[in-house]
Amino acid sequence: MAWTERQRRMLQEMGLRVWAPRHADAPDEVQAAVRPSAVRVAPGQPQGGPLAEPAPVATPVARPAATPALPRAEGGARARHIATLEWPALREAVVACTACGLCRGRRQTVFGVGNPHAHWMIVGEAPGEQEDLKGEPFVGAAGHLLDNMLLALSLTREEAAPERQVFIANTLKCRPPRNRNPEASELALCEPFLQRQIELVRPRLILAMGRFAVDALLRSSEPIGKLRGRVHRYQGVPLVVSYHPAYLLRNPADKAKAWDDLCLAAATVESAGDARQP
Ligand code: URA
Repeated sequence: MAWTERQRRMLQEMGLRVWAPRHADAPDEVQAAVRPSAVRVAPGQPQGGPLAEPAPVATPVARPAATPALPRAEGGARARHIATLEWPALREAVVACTACGLCRGRRQTVFGVGNPHAHWMIVGEAPGEQEDLKGEPFVGAAGHLLDNMLLALSLTREEAAPERQVFIANTLKCRPPRNRNPEASELALCEPFLQRQIELVRPRLILAMGRFAVDALLRSSEPIGKLRGRVHRYQGVPLVVSYHPAYLLRNPADKAKAWDDLCLAAATVESAGDARQP
């Protein structure tokens, strides 16, 4: 991937280093400066500052292994039904959902956006006010930052081939009142939709952004700072943990770590190839 002038300027603005795939058609000096950080060695080791060198590579990222599926949070007939739905019916089921009280306060549901065969799937938390108005995830300030970070990797939510166009979804499809935190029961009831979306997209990589995405997908309450920097699995799909863009807006010093996470994700996608199950 050759970096456009716009991408370079944007990364510079963010104080971030440049990422390029191993065989990118880029000048040698750029290639030398930008090796992907891949897997950090020791979880919990001190993280570098904004312009720190990437951590050394421990092991090549393995192809997705066949791991046992996580138990579905809400295993009743409703969840089993959702697990059978194809895209149009799944979208309709989300639009019509009244399983929890959030349906009463929403303007509209926020299903998700992007390529149904995307290599990258981004999972966030829940719609906010702008998303509730527009019916699309991450369209507010946090979404703008997310778009810019994706753009720096030549990724986009706009129409493009599956390797370039991501799919973005949230753990909750409806806005919680006054943007309060999702409740456990809401997450459990909404989870079958996200699970089915992941099954249908069959991404090469899931980027879980923020506490609630991590809780939902990894069933882990470990701090994000401890979980990031290595590759996890969700039902066999490599999963990288990172900070939520809204957190990054409040804590810009951590943008460099988030950029490292994106570099790890990019390296993971690259090394995994198309190892998805048929
Ligand atoms: N934050 C999220 O996690 N998702 C959105 O869609 C918007 C903000």
